[in-house]
Amino acid sequence: MRARTRTGLGVLAAGVASVLLAGTASAAPAPGAPGVGDSYYPNAGNGGTDVLHYDIRLTYQPATDVLAGTTTLLLTATQDLSRFDLDFALKASSVLVNNRPAQFTNQTGNGELVVTPAQPLLKGQTATVVVAYSDTPSTEKVDGINAWKKGSFGALGVDEPQSSAWWFPANDHPTDKATYDVTIEAPDDNVAVTNGTLVRTVKSRAGWTRWQWRSTKPQATYLTSFIVGKYELNQSTTPDGKPFITAYGSDLGDSLYAAKASVERTPEIDAFLATKFGPFPFEAEGGVVTSGITFSLENQTRPTYGARNFRAGSNTTLIAHENAHQWFGDNVSLGRWSDIWLNEGFASYAEWLWSEHEGEGTVAELAQYTYDSNPADGDLWKLVPADPGADNQFDNAVYDRGALTLQALRTAVGDDAFFKILQTWQAQKGGSNGRIQEFIALAEKVSGKPLYDLFQTWLYTAGKPAVGPNGAAPAAFTARSASVAKPKSFDQIQANHRNLAAEHTH
Ligand SMILES: [Zn+2]
Repeated sequence: MRARTRTGLGVLAAGVASVLLAGTASAAPAPGAPGVGDSYYPNAGNGGTDVLHYDIRLTYQPATDVLAGTTTLLLTATQDLSRFDLDFALKASSVLVNNRPAQFTNQTGNGELVVTPAQPLLKGQTATVVVAYSDTPSTEKVDGINAWKKGSFGALGVDEPQSSAWWFPANDHPTDKATYDVTIEAPDDNVAVTNGTLVRTVKSRAGWTRWQWRSTKPQATYLTSFIVGKYELNQSTTPDGKPFITAYGSDLGDSLYAAKASVERTPEIDAFLATKFGPFPFEAEGGVVTSGITFSLENQTRPTYGARNFRAGSNTTLIAHENAHQWFGDNVSLGRWSDIWLNEGFASYAEWLWSEHEGEGTVAELAQYTYDSNPADGDLWKLVPADPGADNQFDNAVYDRGALTLQALRTAVGDDAFFKILQTWQAQKGGSNGRIQEFIALAEKVSGKPLYDLFQTWLYTAGKPAVGPNGAAPAAFTARSASVAKPKSFDQIQANHRNLAAEHTH
């Protein structure tokens, strides 16, 4: 090993020297683990690397479903690495690490691209990794699953908990968030949409246009969207000056106006949510409505909505749900997938908040009706929201019982402390990750109340809690002998949750 003056190799030489001086018996760099250690998805993410930035430059031809180009990862080694994995379902054609050809093995069937750099990476070293590829995403499966959507609507890389593997190599776990530059070239009669701001469009060659997008805030891989197809694209500005970009599939038919009447209100809804959760965390807002999915997903800055959600008319509670995720899920992301309550319980609670704001049923009414209308032996009480299992991450229990838990917390600590807890969580964890236990600890600290029993009852124990979410004898309901009347928004919110739970890859 020769000493060099260039930064990267200088770090390498210094690292070796310190190891020799310390006299350590064995300091051989080890392979990075194939996953971060998430029990729900053992291969998700990778050990030993922290991605700072993705630069994705692709050409996509919808007619053939061929996706080709390069992704450059700027990453830091968090341990000495003889080799490392990236999560990727497509076949790579070449890999460079710090400008030198690296050996690589495509394990597309289990979604791992195993990279052995010409020189080991040392802990703390930053590296550029350039992966070139050309493949047909609809033909590649990971553990038997293909999350790529292809049809008359074009193509979508939109899914949870994984979708990035079908269009860019990544450290695919919410704990490794990064910034993005995404450039997609598509035929002229298509649009290419992803997150953040649209930097520019360029007529790249005859019949083709390049769409250049940028995300400047830390963004999880599963929240990064690939959308190419025939859409109406609208660009405007929110009242507080952010880019507001929406897109509507050209095939929405009768659902188009209902979709617009909902999604175009996003800035109003985000402004409302900001009064509850704190400032909107990102640089842009928007939404995409497509016939290519039935569910909806909280892609950062620009959620993607399944068109069927607007078939029966406008659906602003769904807009409130996906945009509440901009705070709960996107700004503060999961530490482990078992923490999914931190996403879905809070986004579902936001539907109730918005309903109350719209005069369609108060939070207390919706919570009480949800509690009363689910009998003790019903499905809602069978799962434990704090750890529902990988197959039940999007079960209604995570959504409805999850929201009930928050109402029970609000009842216990009062309005002021409740919203202070939510806003403090955002302020402390924004741009990063959180775990359920950390949230509980914060709730106890902010409220000054012991809350172990409450969370044990509502989140960690199966069975219907004996006392409802509004307390033992809520004043609003004591006048009635039977349950409260069904709030106007109840059925719509339930339909939202059924659609949100449907057709995820897991
Ligand atoms: Zn959700």
